[in-house]
Amino acid sequence: MDGKILVTTFYKFQAFEEKELKPLKQALEVQGEELQLKGLILIGKEGFNSTISGDPESIEQLKKFIVSITDDHSVWFKDSWCDWKPFSRFKVKIKNEIVTIGRPDLVPSSEQNFHLDPEDWHKAMMSEGVIVVDTRNTYETELGKFKNALDLRINDFQEFTARFLEQSFDKDKKILIYCTGGIRCEKAILELHEQGYKNIYQLNGGILNYIKEKPDGFWEGECFVFDHRVAVDQHLQPSKQYSLCPHCGNPGSQKIKCVQCKTEHIVCTSCLDSAPEKRTCSKNCAHHFRLGHKTTRLHRDGLKFPPK
Ligand SMILES: [Zn+2]
Ligand SMILES: [Zn+2]
Repeated sequence: MDGKILVTTFYKFQAFEEKELKPLKQALEVQGEELQLKGLILIGKEGFNSTISGDPESIEQLKKFIVSITDDHSVWFKDSWCDWKPFSRFKVKIKNEIVTIGRPDLVPSSEQNFHLDPEDWHKAMMSEGVIVVDTRNTYETELGKFKNALDLRINDFQEFTARFLEQSFDKDKKILIYCTGGIRCEKAILELHEQGYKNIYQLNGGILNYIKEKPDGFWEGECFVFDHRVAVDQHLQPSKQYSLCPHCGNPGSQKIKCVQCKTEHIVCTSCLDSAPEKRTCSKNCAHHFRLGHKTTRLHRDGLKFPPK
């Protein structure tokens, strides 16, 4: 079932001049304000990268604006729905890289094409001897990944290339890489080409595009997203299983009844195992549990995420 809030994810590599960035930031802030949008837009000399939420008409307006600032008047928007606002703020940030691999000099061009659409990706995954590598971080891969995909256990995308090279794959082997919406792979693939890997392809539009096309395909688990939904399931619906742990901020799925205020909440396994005061719904309740106080009212003000 479709919710009321439209969430759209998009990026584009396109050269902007340094002097264009501030006016662009201001123009986007005006759009955000007028259309009452929430979310984050990163802009830089290499392009933009964003996830934004709002009511459907406002998102349509924003899309028109975004398309109007591109050289070729095309942007690929990946949409999903949510019943509640998955962001609490609207922010436009100017960044050195719109996705940080530590190589601002690597800019994908639209002429190169190492992209596989979901159908071709699906077929490629079934062929003999192919290697599938996840480019995402451990806190993402733990919620879900492609069947038999290699998880490099990285904490930050900037570690990707080094960890990939440690695997010493045969340079002629067919390698498939993927990420959430495709942008990380755009850069990763250029770095791997530089390293001599030529038979390497990326999933076009990332996991979000694949599960839209093939909800019963090779994707297993849920797909982590960078907003309050935490993850989306195979039908692009907000996760019912995961919530951000109030103690550490990582995704968790352990249901607890707060020992302080008795509210039901979700925490992560490692916090749950670490100390008795982590069997609480918030940092505030944990604090008061330690002090031995009761603060039923206060914890409610401290609740950051929608209860699931
Ligand atoms: Zn935790
Ligand atoms: Zn509590």
